[in-house]
Amino acid sequence: MDQINSDRPDGTVAVTGGASPLIDPLGRKITYIRVSVTDRCDFRCFYCMGEDMEFLKRNELLSLEELDRLCSAFIRNGVVKIRLTGGEPLVRRGLMWLVRQLSRHLGSGALQELTLTTNGSQLSRFADELAECGVKRINISMDTLDPEQFREVTRGGDLAKVLEGVRAAQEAGLKIKINTVALRGVNHDEIEPMMLWAHEQGMEMTLIETMPLGQIGGSRADNYLPLSEVREQLAQKYTLLGSDHCSGGPARFVTIAETGGRLGMITPLSHTFCESCNRVRLTSTGTLFMCLGQEDSADLRQVLRSGIDDAGLDAALHEAIARKPKGHDFIIDRSKDEPALNRHMSVTGG
Ligand code: SAM
Ligand code: SF4
Repeated sequence: MDQINSDRPDGTVAVTGGASPLIDPLGRKITYIRVSVTDRCDFRCFYCMGEDMEFLKRNELLSLEELDRLCSAFIRNGVVKIRLTGGEPLVRRGLMWLVRQLSRHLGSGALQELTLTTNGSQLSRFADELAECGVKRINISMDTLDPEQFREVTRGGDLAKVLEGVRAAQEAGLKIKINTVALRGVNHDEIEPMMLWAHEQGMEMTLIETMPLGQIGGSRADNYLPLSEVREQLAQKYTLLGSDHCSGGPARFVTIAETGGRLGMITPLSHTFCESCNRVRLTSTGTLFMCLGQEDSADLRQVLRSGIDDAGLDAALHEAIARKPKGHDFIIDRSKDEPALNRHMSVTGG
C-alpha cells in the first residue's frame, strides 16, 4: 500500500511496495543520505588523512551497480536527497555511470536533489556532464587561495586545477558552495578574503571546525579554531545578519550585509544540530553509519550480497534506522590529543 511522506514540494509522495518512510526512535525522518563512493583521494589534506594512508582493496568496495541498488532502496523508502562524497568522488572510475543511473529518480520526481562534495581537482572534466544529469548544486572544498599554502595543506594539490574546476562548474550553471575548514595557524587570516572572493562570484561559503576523526599522524588540537572566534572577528568589520536559511544540517547561516552573500558555520563540537538530524552515511564498503560521531553501524554489503530481494533490503534499512543514536560525543581532549573516533572523514564521507 502506498504511504505518505511530507517531504515533497507538494507535501506528499507515494512510497511504493512494502516500503515506508524511515523514521528513527526519536521520530526523526531520514530523508538524506551521504554516500562515500570511494575512500581514495588525489589529495592528502593534513587534517583529513595521514600522508601514508592505506586505502581499501577494490573488491571491498560496493560496485557501482550495488551502490545504485542501495541508493534506489533508500529513495524507495523516502530518501529525497543524496550527496555523493568520499574520499574524492570524482576519482572513482565510472562514477558518471552512477550519477546517470541515479538521475532517473530525479526524472521520476522520487529524488529531489542529487549533489556532490568534491575537492574540485577533476571538476573541469565532469562539470558539464553533472549538469546534464540534473545536478544543480555542488560543494567544493578549498581551504586557501594561496597556491603554496594549498600545496602544503593538501600535500601536493594544484590550486590552479581546482580554480579551473570552479570556473567549469560556474559555466555549466552549477550553484557552488565553497567549504573551508577553519585552521588556526594555517588559514585564519585568509577566511575574510576567501569569503569576499566567494561572495563576489555569487558563491556561498561554509566554514567548518576540525573534527577529531581518524589518526592523521600529528596533532589536531593546535589547529583547532572555534568558529565563535571567527564570527567575532568578522563582526568587527561586517554586519552579520541573522538568516533563517536552513540546509537541514548542522550549518547555521548569516548573511553578510556588505556583500549580500551567505556564510554558513558548522560547529560539530556543539550538539545543537543533533535533534533535527535527518541524515545517515553510507561508506564505500556498504557500512551504514547512523551518526557521523558514533560507532553504531549496519553492514549493508553483506545484506546486498546475500541475494536478498527488495522487500528484504527495505526491512534491513528499517532495522538499521531503528538503531540511530540520539547524538554524537566528539571531544578534542587537548591533554591526550587522540581522535574521538578512529574512522577518517574520507571513509564516512564529509
Ligand atoms: N574529497 C572531497 C572534498 O574534500 O570535498 C569530499 C570528501 S571530504 C572528507 C568532505 C569534507 O570534509 C571536506 O570539506 C573536508 O574539508 C572535510 N573534512 C575532512 N576531514 C575533516 C575533519 N577532520 N574535520 C572537519 N572537516 C573535515
Ligand atoms: Fe581528500 Fe577531501 Fe580528505 Fe582532502 S578533505 S584528503 S580532498 S577526502
